[in-house]
Amino acid sequence: MDIVERFLKYVSFETTSDEHSESCPSSPKELELAKYIAEELKGLGLADARMDENGYVYASLPASEGCEGKDVIGLIAHMDTSPDAPGKDIKTRQFRYEGGDIILSDTMSISAEEYDLEYFKGQELIVTDGTTLLGADDKAGAAEIVSAVEYLLAHPEVKHGKILVAFTPDEEIGRGTDRFDLEHFPAKFAYTLDGGRLDSIEYECFNAASCKVTVNGLNIHPGAAKNKMKNSILMANEFLNMLPPAETPAHTEGYEGFYHVAEMCGDETQTTISMIIRDHDRAKFEARKNYVLHAASYLNEKYGKDTVVVSLRDSYYNMREKLEPCMYIVDRAIAAFNELGIDIKPTPIRGGTDGAQLSFKGLPCPNLPTGGENYHSVKEFVSVDAMRLMIKAIVKIVTMD
Ligand SMILES: [Zn+2]
Repeated sequence: MDIVERFLKYVSFETTSDEHSESCPSSPKELELAKYIAEELKGLGLADARMDENGYVYASLPASEGCEGKDVIGLIAHMDTSPDAPGKDIKTRQFRYEGGDIILSDTMSISAEEYDLEYFKGQELIVTDGTTLLGADDKAGAAEIVSAVEYLLAHPEVKHGKILVAFTPDEEIGRGTDRFDLEHFPAKFAYTLDGGRLDSIEYECFNAASCKVTVNGLNIHPGAAKNKMKNSILMANEFLNMLPPAETPAHTEGYEGFYHVAEMCGDETQTTISMIIRDHDRAKFEARKNYVLHAASYLNEKYGKDTVVVSLRDSYYNMREKLEPCMYIVDRAIAAFNELGIDIKPTPIRGGTDGAQLSFKGLPCPNLPTGGENYHSVKEFVSVDAMRLMIKAIVKIVTMD
């Protein structure tokens, strides 16, 4: 099957994960694509392809004759799409990009200048109608892995060691590896295919924490409120004003960390704030968490004990410390891309990746590109040229000595 057809088939499944659900997968709809991929792999000839009770799909491609002693390599992609943008009834359009802004609809376009579209000139792109995301994150990765497997099955003369593939649910809500069956995934190392443009390989990510701030006030009739009312909204506002104004996602890049206020709701009595804290540097990351606690204790001194209650939870850590001792995994991928004439460089991810969590669980796992852009947005698109190159890159990586 051609990769475009495969990719569009995956895109036709609605697999938006749901952060408010406790189940796994978080949305039962994710199971439909999982079942489909498991069946597809079986149909291609991977006899052990299976979907487990949590909606994870696993399969293995045995080593070519004489290659049984080679390292077992894992390839991983996630099947869910981000809840940040609608992911149902996705209408796609494929065209050759010749320059200029990309018009998605009467009211939505992708600015050539703002989104650096020059890079894609001459390439075949797939976009949406501007009302949904595309789901190249990460269905492009999934389609590339399956297409690479299909290629290897059709070309037995291309020799490789044993390859394990896995497709996970709920990556977008941070739970993609929670129930990953590592015991039955005995790869020496693996790659997630969950990155963007074909110029970066990622083995450094943020250290990440989520932070919930509850501000407790005291309400009373405004007419009798003098020296009595403690308005939690105003105190929450005071808390937010203590966060460094230049250290937000909108003002940082590269290795710069940030505080991000994601949600706030409340009334006079109680206001809650949901935040995330990110930094590549572990010490700075710890300092950021401490700063939030410090701001809370300052306000508690001012307004009374337990006015501001902070709950912090670490989400994931920078996988760099786990990859540095085995950089040959990163070098192998870089060499494969270079052989295909693609210049690729390690780039720090300003986010997380399933690979980070897997690396900390003992499976070193850098992240490879997939050819998509503008993830989690209705402006998401994918380069078909890049997807085709990625099949070649995967084949190169698993067949190198
Ligand atoms: Zn992704």
